[in-house]
Amino acid sequence: ASQDSWSSDSSDSVTSSESGNTYYRVVLIGEHGVGKSALAKIFAGVHDNPDGECETLGENTYERTLTVDGESATIILIDMWENKGDDQWIQDHCMQVGDAYLIVYSITDKASFEKASELRIQLRRARQTEDIPIILVGNKSDLVRCREVSVSEGRACAVVFDCKFIETSAAVQHNVKELFEGIVRQVRLRRDSKEK
Ligand code: GDP
Ligand code: MG
Repeated sequence: ASQDSWSSDSSDSVTSSESGNTYYRVVLIGEHGVGKSALAKIFAGVHDNPDGECETLGENTYERTLTVDGESATIILIDMWENKGDDQWIQDHCMQVGDAYLIVYSITDKASFEKASELRIQLRRARQTEDIPIILVGNKSDLVRCREVSVSEGRACAVVFDCKFIETSAAVQHNVKELFEGIVRQVRLRRDSKEK
C-alpha cells in the first residue's frame, strides 16, 4: 500500500505526451554507495510497477511522468555519475546536461556529506550564470543507529548551498516520492519567476 501514491498518477500520465507536458532532466550525483541507484530504481518503479509506465532509456536513464500540483511533468532521471571507464568525461557531461540536480549523501557517512559540498561547488563552477534547482538529499534515514550527520547539519548545509533539503530512505521508501515532486516544484518556481 505504500506505493499507492505513486500509482495514482498513472491515470493522468496517459495524455502526458501531448503538448503541454514538460520534460526535466534530473541528474543524481554523489559519493559511491550513498544510494543513488536505489533511489533511481524506486523512481523507475522497479518494485511496484514491473509492467511499464516507466520507460528505461538505456542503462542508467529512466523516464517517468508525475502529476504535481495538478500539472504533469516528465522527469528524465540520469544515474550515470559513476560509470566504469571514462569517469571524468561522464562527470563533466553530467554537470552540463541537468535541468536540476539531486546531490545525495548518506546520513551514515560523514565523508559523503563532505563530498556533497565539493560537488555543490563544482556544479556552481560548471554552470556559473545559471540558477539551477538543487535538492540536497540525506539518504539512508532508516539507519538511525549509524547516523553520522544530523538533520540540523544537513539543513544548515542546504542553507549555505541555497538549495532544498530532504532526508530519504530508499530502503523503506520514505520521502522518495516527495523528493521527485520537490524537484519538479523547484524547476517550476524558477520557470514561473522568469515569466514575470
Ligand atoms: P550508489 O553507489 O549511490 O548508486 O548506491 P546504491 O544505490 O548502489 O546503494 C549502495 C548500498 O546502499 C546498497 O547496498 C543499497 O542497498 C544500500 N542502500 C541504498 N539506499 C539505502 C537506504 O535508504 N537505506 C539503507 N539501509 N540502505 C540503502
Ligand atoms: Mg549507483
